Amino acid sequence: MALYAAAANVLAGVENRQGSIKGLVYASRFQNVKQLYALVCETQRYSAVLDAVIASAGLFRAEKKLKPHLAKVLVYELLLGKGFRGGGGRWKPLLGRHQARLKAELARLKVHRGVSRNEDLLEVGSRPGPASQVPRFVRVNTLKTCTDDAIDYFKRQGFSYQGQASSLEDLRTLRGKRFLLDPLLSELLVFPAQTDLHEHPLYQAGHLILQDKASCLPAMLLAPPPGSHVIDACAAPGNKTSHLAALLKNQGKIFAFDLDAKRLASMATLLVRAGVSCCELAKEDFLAVSPSDQRYRQVQYILLDPSCSGSGMLTRQLEEPGADTPSKERLHALAGFQQRALCHALTFPSLQRLVYSTCSFCQEENEDVVRDALQQQSPGTFRIAPVLPSWPHRGLSTFPGAEHCLRASPETTLTGGFFIAVIERVEVPSPASQAEALAQELIPSPAPKRKRRQRKAVAGRSTLPCT
Ligand code: SAM
Repeated sequence: MALYAAAANVLAGVENRQGSIKGLVYASRFQNVKQLYALVCETQRYSAVLDAVIASAGLFRAEKKLKPHLAKVLVYELLLGKGFRGGGGRWKPLLGRHQARLKAELARLKVHRGVSRNEDLLEVGSRPGPASQVPRFVRVNTLKTCTDDAIDYFKRQGFSYQGQASSLEDLRTLRGKRFLLDPLLSELLVFPAQTDLHEHPLYQAGHLILQDKASCLPAMLLAPPPGSHVIDACAAPGNKTSHLAALLKNQGKIFAFDLDAKRLASMATLLVRAGVSCCELAKEDFLAVSPSDQRYRQVQYILLDPSCSGSGMLTRQLEEPGADTPSKERLHALAGFQQRALCHALTFPSLQRLVYSTCSFCQEENEDVVRDALQQQSPGTFRIAPVLPSWPHRGLSTFPGAEHCLRASPETTLTGGFFIAVIERVEVPSPASQAEALAQELIPSPAPKRKRRQRKAVAGRSTLPCT
C-alpha cells in the first residue's frame, strides 16, 4: 500500500480507537515503518491546524470523493511536510489545483493568531515538550568493544567529543554533532535528541545498544559480579539482559524468562548480536518458576522489570501526549501481577539483591507495589537499599524508606519516565558467626575497656543470648 493511503488508514484506526499509532503502523505491514510512523505522528500533531485550513479552503466542497484522513495527510505533506514524496502520484495534480488557496488559508491563520512559525500554531500540549528534548543515550556494549574505541569511531566520523559531562545542564544543551560521556554511567554516550543511530554500523554490529539512561539503571544497580547467577524475570526484548551479561563479562549465568514468544524471538536475535553467551532463555511464566528448583539455588540477584502501563515511555509521551493515564481497572490488574511477581521473586532462597523497575509514572505500579510486597515479608528480612544519594528525583514518600527509591522523567532527569527500587536482604548473622561472636565474649581480653565496648555492642543484637 502507498505511504499516504497507509497513513490515512492508521489515522482512521486511531480515531476509531482500534489501537495506538505504533500498533497500527506495525499492523499495516507497510515496509518503511519509520517513515510511516513519522508521517502519522506529525499529521496527528497538526490535526487541528489542518482541519481549520482544509475547512476554510473549502477542499471537501470541491473534491467530494476525497476522504478526510487522506486529505489531512496530503495537506500536511503539501503545506508543512517535505513536499510530496516520489513525485506524489495522482495526488499531486489533485492537490495542486488547491495549493494556492490552501497556502493562503494557512498564512491567514498565522496572521489571525499573530504568529510567524507553523510550530507556533500548535496547541501548547502538542508543541515539542520535555520528552522531545531527551538526549539520545547510547550504551557501549563492553562484551564487544570499549568506550574509548567507540568514542574514537565517532570522532573519525566527524562527531566532536566533549568529554564527560559534569551536570545535566551539559546534556540539556547538547547540539549538532557533539557528544558526551554520561556523568553517571561510564559506558553511556550521549548525543543530541534528534540523533538517529539505527543505521549506524556499530549499532548494527551489536557494539552499541540504543538504550535510554533510565533503562540502564536497573542492571547497573543490581550490579551482579562476574560469575554470579541472576534471574531476569520478565526479560524480553532483552536490553537489560544484555546489560547484565556485560556486567557479568559473560561469566556466570542469567536465567531469562518471558511469556511472549514473539518478543523472545527478537530477544534471541538481540542477544546473539550483542555477543551474550551466558544467558539461558526460557518461554515460561515467571510465577510458575519454582524457587526450590536446584537450578536456581545459587541465584543471588533478580531483576524484575514486569509488564506495566508504560505511562513513562518516551514514545508514548511523544505520540499521544496526555494519553499517559491508564484506566483504574488496567492499573489494578497490572499492579496485581506486579505484586505477585515481586513477592514470588523474594522467595528465592539465596536471593541477596533484587531490582524492581517499571517505565510507569503511576504510584499504584511503583511505591504501592513495593510497600505491599515488603509488608508481606517477615519483618526485618528485606529493606529498600539507599542508592545513588545524588539522584535528584526520588520515590514518593508514601511509606518509610520510599525515599530510597528512584524516579526519573524527562523534566527532572532528562530520561524517559521510570521507577526503580533496590531491595536487599538484611544480613542475618549465620550460626557460625554467632558462635564466633559468643566465643569472643567468653575469652578474657587483655584490654578491659575494649572488652566492655564489645560486650555492649554484642548484647545489642537480639539474636545473641546475653552473657
Ligand atoms: N526487561 C525488558 C527489557 O529491558 O528489554 C522489558 C520487559 S517488559 C517491560 C515486560 C515483559 O514481561 C514483557 O516482555 C512481557 O511479555 C513479560 N511478561 C509478562 N508477564 C510475564 C510473566 N508472567 N512471566 C514472564 N514474563 C512476563
